[in-house]
Amino acid sequence: MNRRSIYAKSCIAISSLLLVIFSLPLSASNLPSFFDFNEKNARAQTPARDLALEAQLDALMDADFVPSDTQALDELLRDVDVNTPIETFVRAQGYQILRLAMQDNLTAALVIAEEVEQLATAADNLNAIAEINVIIAEAHVANEKFDKASTRVERILELLPRVSNVRIRFHANHLVARILQNNNDTSDALEYLLAAQALLPLTEAQGQQRRRHFLSLHLARIQANLGRWAASMATAENAIEDTRRTGIRTHLPDLYLVRAYSKQYQNGPSQSIVDAFLEAAQVARDMGNARVEMLSYNNAGATKLHLNELNDATQYLQQGLVIARRIGNINERSVTEFNLGYIKVLQEQYDAGITEMLAAAEVFNGFALKREQAILLTHIARAYELAGRYQEQAETLKKQAALRQEVAETQREQQINELQVRYEAAEKSYEIKLLEQQAELQRQELASQERKQDFVVLAGAFMLVLLIVFAGVYRKTRKLNLLLNEANAELQEQSLRDPLTGLHNRRAIYDRLLRDEQRIYTGNHAVFILDIDHFKTINDKYGHSIGDEVLIEFGRRLKQATRSSDMAIRWGGEEFLLILENVQTEQVMQVARKLLTEIGEKPFHTSAGRLHITLSGGCTVMTSAKEQMPPNWDDTVRLVDELLYQAKNEGRNRIRYQPDSGPRETIYLRP
Ligand code: GH3
Ligand code: MG
Ligand code: MG
Repeated sequence: MNRRSIYAKSCIAISSLLLVIFSLPLSASNLPSFFDFNEKNARAQTPARDLALEAQLDALMDADFVPSDTQALDELLRDVDVNTPIETFVRAQGYQILRLAMQDNLTAALVIAEEVEQLATAADNLNAIAEINVIIAEAHVANEKFDKASTRVERILELLPRVSNVRIRFHANHLVARILQNNNDTSDALEYLLAAQALLPLTEAQGQQRRRHFLSLHLARIQANLGRWAASMATAENAIEDTRRTGIRTHLPDLYLVRAYSKQYQNGPSQSIVDAFLEAAQVARDMGNARVEMLSYNNAGATKLHLNELNDATQYLQQGLVIARRIGNINERSVTEFNLGYIKVLQEQYDAGITEMLAAAEVFNGFALKREQAILLTHIARAYELAGRYQEQAETLKKQAALRQEVAETQREQQINELQVRYEAAEKSYEIKLLEQQAELQRQELASQERKQDFVVLAGAFMLVLLIVFAGVYRKTRKLNLLLNEANAELQEQSLRDPLTGLHNRRAIYDRLLRDEQRIYTGNHAVFILDIDHFKTINDKYGHSIGDEVLIEFGRRLKQATRSSDMAIRWGGEEFLLILENVQTEQVMQVARKLLTEIGEKPFHTSAGRLHITLSGGCTVMTSAKEQMPPNWDDTVRLVDELLYQAKNEGRNRIRYQPDSGPRETIYLRP
């Protein structure tokens, strides 16, 4: 489709939507006064962004695209009107649009979106136009209308190189990746995901963990898609680990599911895999994520089926089914029903089982790819065989052969897929066996023992769940593996760094302590905890971004004041930890004085002007000879924390020091 026809289409969409606006009382009552187009010229003279308002929006963001504090968002939106600079205006309205879209009110969302789009276009502001396009596509994605979302992709990609706002670029890349992934275009999806990942450190600091959380889920899924089970497990594992540290848990159920999923393929089916799926189901239930809960039960059931534990399989699949019915999930439900029918057949309830399988297959065929439909036919044929209905078995296989022929003819479906290869291997051997059997059709007698063997085919049934969850195609493997390796290394490195200051994070220290206990613990090592004084006041007075500038500069000075072998860690918000290896007591005092001077006596140059910053700290020295047990790290941290607390109480701008051995006195150090 060329650009002109897209443009023509969007014109039609706009004019038809305009008709809707005035006939929709709900959205009309929600629409603020900015529909007065005469006022839009006033906007042209104003700057594009209102940074104070955006800082408030940043502060509202929690784990998702849309702030969960509805009331606070509503209050903020009350300040957003025709006088709000266009980019901030679009961003704020975007939350309103996405909120409506996520509440299944897509029509109302699109009514507002079209108006916002017109204003952005009238203002001729690229960031704003790109953002509203991203928001509209996202609104469609939230309602699983990927076709509609796809129509925005070309426009977004056309604008992307000229979009200066990193937040929008990040979101756009990530969105395009998800749309492509849904479209089975895994390799391109990965490229956009990696582009989003590269942008992550440039985005506003407060939202980075939230964004990384989201990104990790998609990376894990793509890795699973590509059959890179170990990598997928590791990505999911890291992201799950992160949730403990960051408290961001939005996608935790999905992460548990992907992890269990990849583990299944990495290690093969077993009870521990079933447990992993049940754990995913539990987490999903706790967090009210019914879809993931359902998928987890379905997978637990499929694994049990694979293990030939049919009663348990039935139980879990039934549990999945109950949830699927409750949430009206017809598509995934059909796979479960198909598997349940298959179990019945295996339990020798042939007719009932086959009837259920056929009914489920009909639903399934309504949305599945032909290739996937062909897989179902394999199982149906197998069921006929078990039931001794050989004539129908032969007919089913003929149908399947015709379908496969069709599939082979469509170029899109020809792409080689590792999973497909596996299915086909299983199916080929099955077909050969079948040809032999057809010769014996007249005898129509098979040993009943033979009926229950060959569970290889069941792997296909199990994989269908995968196809639906990830719906991915395996291709361009070499290039992707390369990209993924780089992405993994990058992720690994990123996971040990604080994105704002570039210092190490908490995880890095545990990583190092655990890996290299001896090196850390033999000799004299100083441990400092440092906390910026009255930091909250800086945020309150100058805004969060100035606070961030102070943190960055603080981190830089810490690095400068210490040796490269020392470890500087961002411990928490405005708390830092220093580990100085192999130092003498006198050196420790020198470093402490140097830190107080470097921070407290030299003003911080920020966008809000020169700021006077001081720090308080606690410090101790861990002494440990080789033959001794390493001192307890947690006790050390507790001690310096307590010393810091005392330093604060004594009036701040000082470091309180207590050597580990020798006199248990504390010393004040001032600049
Ligand atoms: P005290 O002297 O007792 O340490 O007071 P304080 O204001 O420094 O300490 P408090 O713990 O009350 O406030 C710390 C503030 O640091 C609160 C939090 O919003 C802010 N903060 C934490 N992380 C970040 C960040 O990444 N960026 C910015 N700008 N602020 C942060
Ligand atoms: Mg502080
Ligand atoms: Mg603090």
